[in-house]
Amino acid sequence: RMVSASPASPNEEAIERALRPKGLAEYVGQAKAREQLEIFIGAARKRAEALDHVLLFGPPGLGKTTLSHIIATELGVNLRQTSGPVLEKPKDLAAILTNLEKNDVLFIDEIHRLSPVVEEILYPALEDYQIDIMIGEGPAARSIKLDLQPFTLVGATTRAGMLTNPLRDRFGIVARLEFYTPEELARIVHRSAGLLNAPIDAAGAAEIARRSRGTPRIANRLLRRVRDYADVKGNGRIDKPIADLALAMLDVDPHGLDVMDRKLLEAVVHRFDGGPVGLDNVAAAIGEESGTIEDVIEPYLIQQGYLQRTPRGRIATLAAYRHLGLAPPAGAGG
Ligand code: ADP
Repeated sequence: RMVSASPASPNEEAIERALRPKGLAEYVGQAKAREQLEIFIGAARKRAEALDHVLLFGPPGLGKTTLSHIIATELGVNLRQTSGPVLEKPKDLAAILTNLEKNDVLFIDEIHRLSPVVEEILYPALEDYQIDIMIGEGPAARSIKLDLQPFTLVGATTRAGMLTNPLRDRFGIVARLEFYTPEELARIVHRSAGLLNAPIDAAGAAEIARRSRGTPRIANRLLRRVRDYADVKGNGRIDKPIADLALAMLDVDPHGLDVMDRKLLEAVVHRFDGGPVGLDNVAAAIGEESGTIEDVIEPYLIQQGYLQRTPRGRIATLAAYRHLGLAPPAGAGG
């Protein structure tokens, strides 16, 4: 998909970094998470202690990585960044943990993908700032305890339900990131346009914001594509007519749904009579991984009321039929 929710290339990542807000005050939206963190960070600073471990969860592109950087900045400490799949062996994690300085932040993205053996050494590290490591080999091998500096783990995951219970229990602060409102996204688009030196008016920013699936990463990406369009087909200025044309070219429909969103709704409606249909059947029908459907595509469709997740499977709502320009069958869900 052209406008996916995860960073696509090293170049995209560099642009994302440049657009990242640096402090909590600059971080738009997520009032609940921000308010909590402001208090807990303030308290940790006052006592010169490590902040309690933080779990951030929510769909990709909502600002988990950004928030972890901000937490370190606000605490005035270093940030070490890694991810669940990168940490293959216990020694990979041990090397990072033993190098942390007092009260540093360790960010582990996709923390639900830690292997069980790596997760095992994380428990005592989180609880007592200690790790057990093996020294030597064969019969001479023995385990020794190493003391670590106090530190804060910030873990990010798309679904809190994918964490093991013992791991989840070790986070003192749990924040769920929500989809952003169009107003919040418009502020982000304005700010990013300023950083990119792209002239934009209020209606242009509102249009991009409204069609960004509630997701800052998508808003920033659409902004850059619309800017390209404005530069080539217009006079460089982003207004509503230019945004409309560019977004139509990108297959983002007037309600802000993209190609995969529509493909999913169409499959549920046409191939499965509106559901209920199981996730795996939907995945096979549209040729997408079930994990991607569950983490990336569905959450927004559910939040917007196009889809319902029931114990018997996914159901297309009346809004989905309406969106596809179809008359709902008698007794359709929603
Ligand atoms: P995640 O880690 O949840 O996938 P990121 O933290 O990488 O998401 O955010 C993706 C992009 O969206 C970043 O480049 C950042 O500029 C922007 N962004 C995310 N949250 C916010 C926010 N609250 N305010 C402004 N920009 C944001």
